[in-house]
Amino acid sequence: MTATPRLLIVGPQGSGKGTQGLRIAEAFGIPAVSTGDVFRANIAEGTDLGRQVQAIIAAGDLVPDELTSAVVRDRLAQADAAVGFLLDGYPRNLGQVADLDGFLESRDESLAAVVELSVPRDESISRLARRAEEQGRTDDTEEVIANRLAIYERETAPILDVYRERGLVDAIDGVGSLDEITERILVALIARGLNPAS
Ligand code: ADP
Repeated sequence: MTATPRLLIVGPQGSGKGTQGLRIAEAFGIPAVSTGDVFRANIAEGTDLGRQVQAIIAAGDLVPDELTSAVVRDRLAQADAAVGFLLDGYPRNLGQVADLDGFLESRDESLAAVVELSVPRDESISRLARRAEEQGRTDDTEEVIANRLAIYERETAPILDVYRERGLVDAIDGVGSLDEITERILVALIARGLNPAS
């Protein structure tokens, strides 16, 4: 029996984790769950949740853990996540790691791997500046980007130490062509005994 692909992808803003997350999820036939995408969709639709998080996201701050973890729990409880999932952008701090641990334990489940996508700071800043021009994301102004990167260093990078101690982290070089990087990730996951669907 092969392990169920319950995966995390972690990396700084501009590391390409959203794009790679979608590709890896597709390869394994599992849903990609991006908390940023869920929040942005709720803002676009003007839901209660969207109204609650709008100003927080515009400032590049973190949405409170209770709210974020509830969104993730609801999503992972849906039927399509029974075969596995790839979380992009969650957990983002140690409190969320504890929330996710609790949720998975309550279901007798565990993570199979954590993909750490690394890019040098300069590269990630220039990618974000390009995305700001192309997509006009309102949280992509210079000041807000600096805030998000600082929060990443302070709050998100430490979660990797926790997962590293558990032997779950695959460190992947995020510089190269999209296909090269996808291949690097797949090779690392296959080495853990995880099998892509096709
Ligand atoms: P990026 O990784 O480029 O910051 P995301 O799409 O992952 O973009 O997230 C956009 C914003 O959504 C974040 O800056 C934050 O305000 C909010 N957000 C996303 N995921 C989380 C999370 N796990 N916890 C708290 N806030 C989050």
